[in-house]
Amino acid sequence: MSTRITVLCSLVAVAAATLLVGARTSTGIGAQPATPPPLEAIHVAGDVYTLQTPTAQGNLGALIGPDGVLLVDAQFSAESQPILDALAAVTDESVRFLINTHIHPDHIGANAELANQGVLIFAHDLVREQMLDPIRIPRRGGVFFDQPPPEARPVITYDKEVTFHVNGEAVRSFLVPPSHTGGDSFVYFPSADVLAAGDVFRTNMYPIVDVHNGGTFGGLIEATALAIEMSGPDTKIIPGHGFGFTDRDGLDEVYGMLVDIRDRVQTLIDDGASLDDVLEARPTAHLDERWGSVPSWTAADLLPIVYAEYSN
Ligand SMILES: [Zn+2]
Repeated sequence: MSTRITVLCSLVAVAAATLLVGARTSTGIGAQPATPPPLEAIHVAGDVYTLQTPTAQGNLGALIGPDGVLLVDAQFSAESQPILDALAAVTDESVRFLINTHIHPDHIGANAELANQGVLIFAHDLVREQMLDPIRIPRRGGVFFDQPPPEARPVITYDKEVTFHVNGEAVRSFLVPPSHTGGDSFVYFPSADVLAAGDVFRTNMYPIVDVHNGGTFGGLIEATALAIEMSGPDTKIIPGHGFGFTDRDGLDEVYGMLVDIRDRVQTLIDDGASLDDVLEARPTAHLDERWGSVPSWTAADLLPIVYAEYSN
């Protein structure tokens, strides 16, 4: 365990350094070096893998087996080849299904190319609706991306959940409370006991609450609690961002951080604090070293959202 934590910390430093470069780009998504490092398939449990770069820029999940590959999310790049190359190291089968956990560009990038290869795309109803307009992401006050092409849209959408009976699994993709966005899905693989949590859960930085797309901080706490409730001692959790994968202890750590922030901000609000007072009080000072080192999303970005939500 201690070895993995060490590795994680050094990679977080790499991620932070990359983000620093990315923050000066025009997109502001903050994490795209000129030549992205290749995706690599990392075994999680059973037939489930996560495809990641060392900088963990939009992690993917993959269930492999004789029925074909079921993918969770599709990276930032519009090119499907990096995904196919990473998969080729662990399976000869082609991709059949893709689930988008939410709308953000770093999770739907290769949708159109994969769809053109015959992959069926699934997502919550709201993700398809959000694809009918340019996409706004919250970093740096709200940055716009072009509307995704029509082929990128999910073909099959669900209002609550859908189950895939493939490769001996009964994969459940289901809506969670409005948290990172309003249309986040968790994807659970019961046989492998792996939960792909999308961007509701990240291990390398403060959570992003995308209020432009329906996210709420309270829902983030609820969704994290739900993930903890679903998890046993052997459950593996794939984060949306943050290298590798973790377990229930990793969820507990994030849950503790979220509740700590909520309670401290609520106490300040109850004492009559304005937003400026809250920022000046630095209620996350003890957390910033662990969670606030990604320059494009620090406590200064998160606290106004928490304040707005709990002062109403
Ligand atoms: Zn996201």
